[in-house]
Amino acid sequence: MPQIRTVAGTRDLFAADYATGSRVLVEAAQQARLRGYSGIVTPIFEYTEVFSRAVGEGTDVVDKEMYTFEDRGGRSLTLRPEATASVLRAYFEGGMNQGPQPVRLYYRGPMFRAERPQAGRYRQFFQHGVEAIGESAPGLDAEVIELAWSGLQSLGLEGVRLQVNSIGDAACRPAYRSLLQDHYRPHLGEMCEDCRRRFDINPLRLLDCKKPTCAPLQAGAPNPVDHLCEDCASHHRSLKEALVALDIPFTENPRLVRGLDYYTRTAFEFWHDDLKGSQNALGGGGRYDGLAQVLGFEATPGVGFSMGVDRIVLALQRSGLSAAPPGAAVAILPAAEGAAVQAMRLASDLRLSGHVTVVDHGSRSLKSRMRQAQKMGAAVVVILGETELSAGAAAVRDMAGGGQEEVQLGAVAQSVSAILERGAA
Ligand code: AMP
Repeated sequence: MPQIRTVAGTRDLFAADYATGSRVLVEAAQQARLRGYSGIVTPIFEYTEVFSRAVGEGTDVVDKEMYTFEDRGGRSLTLRPEATASVLRAYFEGGMNQGPQPVRLYYRGPMFRAERPQAGRYRQFFQHGVEAIGESAPGLDAEVIELAWSGLQSLGLEGVRLQVNSIGDAACRPAYRSLLQDHYRPHLGEMCEDCRRRFDINPLRLLDCKKPTCAPLQAGAPNPVDHLCEDCASHHRSLKEALVALDIPFTENPRLVRGLDYYTRTAFEFWHDDLKGSQNALGGGGRYDGLAQVLGFEATPGVGFSMGVDRIVLALQRSGLSAAPPGAAVAILPAAEGAAVQAMRLASDLRLSGHVTVVDHGSRSLKSRMRQAQKMGAAVVVILGETELSAGAAAVRDMAGGGQEEVQLGAVAQSVSAILERGAA
């Protein structure tokens, strides 16, 4: 029988991948909490229309990449490809629209898209993100960008480049869309199949097609920022002034459009130099003042971002900033009748002092358990043998220094702490 394996595009995360990812999430949550954001968990699957309405027909995500299935009651459900639509649904369903505004929320969790798997592109990937809902002021756009920026900075990641653009709103985008269509219409025959479809439904996406048939046609295409109405232009100016005031370097990228349809005005992405091609985006976001209505709720502005944790981990690893999984500092080896219980009590004491402690419950020889403790990287080994226990004591061994001494059980924690402190000095 062939060995059972993970599904293509999914993977197990453990050891350094897990430790580095955890670090990213801890920093992200800390930055979000410091700015008054509180956590939200939404379901991993939702009724399909949450995403088909929100993400928009004519986008790759809805057309080709959703994991959609019928449940036993014949309802169409979809594994979430992103979280913004779910968070906004929860904002209304949970009555958060009735309280003080804006509502600041952060989330983390797996997302699912049936994309062609490659390094940095998976079918199940992890995102963390924030949404600030119920306020349209440009200061809030600056706040979420600053939050994402600080999260990346706190990890020590260098080479992050912020790209910023404005893609207008319901007032100015229709006229811009027609201009864009006028530019591309004579070339319809040369364009890839996806772009021919986008031409009618989602022409802004024509600006970021990477295919050799379409990329050259972008030369001379009108830029959204040059066709903003006065309100959008002033919003964009205020955002840029705020970023300058906050010392956040950015590049104006007139070709940056978001893959998802409901974005208005601000669009941004964080790129990383070490990640190449279409996988160079660590995350991105923008304003989505049109989304609530698309979902059938009252018009409500919002802005947010989502960061790809898998890609941030990849960038950290390429920069030599991997986190190590926590090794045990102390291993306790019970080696006498009745020593296991004593070992567990001792382990509790040591953990109270903050030392990562494991008890080796195995029945192999003491020698082989010592080797195992060494391989695990334990700095101290505590042996509870017959002789020691009968004297109410334990043998405490300093693995780096090589010394071993007999210590009364009540003084083991103190002795271990002294060895660990010496090691850390
Ligand atoms: P998006 O919702 O498409 O703007 O994605 C936000 C971020 O999630 C991207 O910048 C990536 O870092 C990450 N991301 C999106 N799709 C994938 C994927 N298939 N695999 C890994 N990361 C992804």
